[in-house]
Amino acid sequence: MAHQNHIFYKWGGGIEPDLPRIDHATDEFLVTEDGEQLIDAASGAAVTNLGHSVPGIDQIFESQSSNVSYLSLSHFSHDAPEELARTLATRSPGDLSKVFYTNSGSEANEAAFKLAREYFRSRGKTEKSVVISRWQSYHGATFGALSATGNTLRRRGYESFLADWEHISPAYPYRWSFEGTPEEQARAAARELETTIRQRGPETVAAFIAEPVGGASIPATAPHPAYYEEVRDICDEYDVLFIADEVMTGFGRTGPLFAMEHYGVVPDMMTLGKGLTSGYTPMSAVLVRDHVAEEFTHDGASFAHGHTFAGNPLSAAVANFVVDRYTDDVLEQGRARGRQLVSELDALRDHPMVGDFRAMGPMVGLEFVADRATKEPFDPSSKVYKRVYDAALDRGVYTYPGKGSVDGLAGDHLMLAPPLTLSEASASRIADAVIDSVETVYRRIK
Ligand code: PLP
Repeated sequence: MAHQNHIFYKWGGGIEPDLPRIDHATDEFLVTEDGEQLIDAASGAAVTNLGHSVPGIDQIFESQSSNVSYLSLSHFSHDAPEELARTLATRSPGDLSKVFYTNSGSEANEAAFKLAREYFRSRGKTEKSVVISRWQSYHGATFGALSATGNTLRRRGYESFLADWEHISPAYPYRWSFEGTPEEQARAAARELETTIRQRGPETVAAFIAEPVGGASIPATAPHPAYYEEVRDICDEYDVLFIADEVMTGFGRTGPLFAMEHYGVVPDMMTLGKGLTSGYTPMSAVLVRDHVAEEFTHDGASFAHGHTFAGNPLSAAVANFVVDRYTDDVLEQGRARGRQLVSELDALRDHPMVGDFRAMGPMVGLEFVADRATKEPFDPSSKVYKRVYDAALDRGVYTYPGKGSVDGLAGDHLMLAPPLTLSEASASRIADAVIDSVETVYRRIK
């Protein structure tokens, strides 16, 4: 007898969509209840950077949970979260040396916004509370994080809940209309931040948040390094905190441990999630620079914000185990698989349906357009992203599909974000399946 499924599914076509049921998963493989093996070419939602069920993880669960799983970090401390904070402080750029724990990427960004607000309040700048972000960004689903999010598909219907904040153009070279060299275009795009700060009033602006490399909305999109140089200078000039949202790009996803390392710019805060635990438990964090943390050391300073499960010893022990595994060798393996995918997907570079082919380390983005010359996106009703996703799944490969906006400002896209530990053979299977899927969809719609 068919059983009733009581999960309230959000995406995926209704309350009881017909989703593949996974029995178990190891490395880059998901095995369905019917015994079909799928390659997880997206690490879930760009999460399982070490693959599924990495050897040794079960001993960590066993030893930490028989020691202590949960403590309220407001009242107790423990080795595991302390050790993790030390490691993150050591391995992150510059003086990002204090760690505030949360449980999801959205929560990390909410905490960063409130930390920015408190930082300025403590300095007597009580009006500074506005957050500036970019269109076609994704910073999370909760109200503050969604207020910063610029993906109009995700915001649609909730605008009345959202804060009256500001958005500037995305860092999206493929669709920029600025003149000049890539560097000049990047500087022009970044200067929109300055214009917006001045229009809104520098005395009201607390923070600018950005994904260093585009993620869920415009995957693998990266500006010229001059962009973040300019952002850093503008934030310094107008006393605005720069928050790098590394929830997706952190932990080797774009090549180095953190994507900001591509740019050599140190943000004032960095938010982390996803790869922090490679998905074995939920955990996220905000890394804070010394000068920000310093404001919270004065007499009477406080930060009235927190979550019950934040920094729980079990998740922290898992994260310690995971972060230690992002060695130079593993990061290089991720980069090598990224290079392999780019080379084996080369046939798509000039494909009539592929407007932009982007890659940063083991993160690849394909943007599909109706017309390569004009970059016109497909009509949203044709759901090209879903068709390519379905075709790849039929060929045994799970990818991450999406659409960055509802207003024709971005094409449909597909992201590949496989585990850094992907095998060469699996990378080839992914490339073959994606090429074949794009060809098949193109033949049907042209
Ligand atoms: N920030 C970025 C850059 C993300 O990609 C995501 C999720 O995809 C989030 C924040 C939100 O994270 P979570 O879904 O864990 O709340």
